[in-house]
Formats: sequence, C-alpha cells, structure tokens
Amino acid sequence: MPRAAKPKAEPVPIRLKRNDLVEVITGKEKGKTGKVLKVLREKNQVLVEKVNMIKRHTRPSPTTGQGGIVEKEAPLMVSKVMLICPKCATATRFHMTVTAEKKKSRVCRKCKDLIDG
Ligand SMILES: [Zn+2]
Repeated sequence: MPRAAKPKAEPVPIRLKRNDLVEVITGKEKGKTGKVLKVLREKNQVLVEKVNMIKRHTRPSPTTGQGGIVEKEAPLMVSKVMLICPKCATATRFHMTVTAEKKKSRVCRKCKDLIDG
C-alpha cells in the first residue's frame, strides 16, 4: 500500500472527451454550454470552454506579457455537466455500444444515433 497522502477522488468512468459539447446541469453555471477543453480523470473534473471562469491576477513577466487580470476556466466536476447530442442538440444521456467496426462508441438515448462519428 502506498502511503496515505491526500485523499484521492473516487475514480469514476468519464465518458467525455476533448471537444465534446456539454451543458452544465447544476450549480451557478447551470444552463451554460461549451466545449470540453480538458478531461482531468484523476480529479473527476472537466475544463469547459468559457464556463466557470475565474479571474487570476498575474504579475508582468516575459511569458505573460503585461500581467494584470487574466480570466481562465476553472475545472468543473464531471457530474455537473451532461453531453449534448449533436443530432438532437439537447443534453442527453447516452450509453456505450460497439460498432460493426469493433469501435466503442456512444449512443444517444433519445435519438439512438451514434454520438461519435
Ligand atoms: Zn440524440
């Protein structure tokens, strides 16, 4: 057993991927939609474009340029977002299936269409 350091988040299977379109279903950002920029599997979090913006104060430096206040996305718990089906354009539940090409793919529960092309 490794030493007990920080309590780790219980890993949940995250079936979201970069560039998925998601809708926030709970919290103060509820109703917002955006593209998944990053999936943080070890934390069960996702970074969604233009959602959960936080302001960061930065000092001027050669890499950031002028410094000042920079707005950036803060990660959201994956349970707070839902995938938007590109076909029916609503936040939807989906399940996994294996296509004829033996590829794992996600299927929209509403329109039964493959979400992954
Ligand atoms: Zn659908």
